[in-house]
Amino acid sequence: MGTKVCKFGGSSLADAQQLQKVREIVEADSARRFVVPSAPGRRSASDTKVTDLLYRCRELQGQGESIDKTFAEISERYQTIVSDLGTSLDLRPQLDEVRARIEAGASADYVASRGEFLNGLVVADLLHFEFVDAADLVRFDADGRFDAELTQTTLETQLEGRERIVVPGFYGSNPSGEIVTFSRGGSDVTGAILARGVGADLYENWTDVSGMRMADPRIVENPALIEQITYRELRELAYMGATVLHEDAIFPVRAAGIPIHIRNTNAPDEPGTLILRSPTSTDRPPRAITGIAGRKDFTIVYVEKTLMNAEVGFARRMLGVLERHQIPFEHLPSGIDTMSLVLHSSFVDDRLDAICAEIERECQPDSIEAFRDMALIATVGRGMMHTPGMAARLFGALAGAGVNIRMIDQGSSELNIIVGIESGDFDAAVRAIYSAFVS
Ligand code: ASP
Repeated sequence: MGTKVCKFGGSSLADAQQLQKVREIVEADSARRFVVPSAPGRRSASDTKVTDLLYRCRELQGQGESIDKTFAEISERYQTIVSDLGTSLDLRPQLDEVRARIEAGASADYVASRGEFLNGLVVADLLHFEFVDAADLVRFDADGRFDAELTQTTLETQLEGRERIVVPGFYGSNPSGEIVTFSRGGSDVTGAILARGVGADLYENWTDVSGMRMADPRIVENPALIEQITYRELRELAYMGATVLHEDAIFPVRAAGIPIHIRNTNAPDEPGTLILRSPTSTDRPPRAITGIAGRKDFTIVYVEKTLMNAEVGFARRMLGVLERHQIPFEHLPSGIDTMSLVLHSSFVDDRLDAICAEIERECQPDSIEAFRDMALIATVGRGMMHTPGMAARLFGALAGAGVNIRMIDQGSSELNIIVGIESGDFDAAVRAIYSAFVS
């Protein structure tokens, strides 16, 4: 039969109608034994997430203002869901307690976690599953860092023999029993941890999109869906900003070799995106590339010196400058006599001139030039390394679109080709690459 852990995002649980869809999905497959809910999300574009309302209450409380109105919104969200579902669940005692604790100055993590806690009670009641508090399962250390090992042993002992359970997402507890949350969107992480903990065959992540797209739909019209992607490809695309999941949700399941399946609660018949350690078949992937993603916030420092290749310690001196400024580098493409430092603009800010001056002093290059407002675009695909002519197609497409390439880096993973271009060319470049490889 197998075991599936299903995490449902906030929009999948925003109202009673959405919750009914969740019930149908869970009941359609008896392998769906572990359910991780988020807090109720937005019902429409102008709506507010319950988590945000909770943070707001705490803020108001801290400013000495009344939380009446905002807390009433939270209560009403839950009361309406429960009454629309027609269950006999009475959340008033829990709501009263949350309110009292906010008024008594409870921590931000405690307050934020109550969205998931209350929703966990609602979902468990609806599905007739057992409710298990995440505070008893997910462990953090005294410094607020997630404790993977302790959590794993806790899950193994606590969940032994339990058949069908609901565990609220987003939080756990530290050794003093205080609630600690993951960063925003952290219910994805809880789902992944639980999947690993119970040795699930599949981690289903139910959301409001039908999976990952091959490019940003704000740039490319109706981009194709990615049906299968490896963890490594996902990491490359996610680094460039294409995300469907919380970044930390990948590590627990990847380590255990559990696939993640991104599915759409509003379109459960669609295939979604399957994230795997390695593709299911040894055949070539259906398309030459898996996806395209990019970011606009880079600065490139281009250093040139004749016979750089023969100079011992050149790179160390150059990187030493960055180290002194506590700036990490993102990429370091190099040629025989050239080296480019690709940096996040946010780290460089107003220090760019100082950095260049120090590199001049310590490395005595023939020339040094810095380009702000640079964008990087990664074209990612596990099939690329076996296909001749990929780079030619990519560069041909960019040339055809009149995009000037300022930097090229074929990552040593051979999973991607990264190009550096001016930010102003970003959209044109993404469209050109997409149409060269996909449409
Ligand atoms: N409710 C939390 C948030 O809004 C966590 C989650 O939804 O995953 O960030």
